[in-house]
Amino acid sequence: MLSMRQALMNESDQISIDFDEASNAWRQNKNQLKNGMFSYKKSSKNCCYVCEDGKKCRKKQLLNDKFCQWHFSPN
Ligand SMILES: [Zn+2]
Repeated sequence: MLSMRQALMNESDQISIDFDEASNAWRQNKNQLKNGMFSYKKSSKNCCYVCEDGKKCRKKQLLNDKFCQWHFSPN
């Protein structure tokens, strides 16, 4: 499987890479950036994580998740 960088280099031509279902699922809650990196898509709600001192995490939830990118736990 080609790396993401190679995929981008071929973009003007045609991307002929078949991402399997796992890759598609992985990409669903992320944005692909121009440099080939990914960033998480965020919802407008705050993370539900409560710290040990009782303060709620103030980062935004990830899309389709109750927690931010630091506190979510993939099953
Ligand atoms: Zn959080």
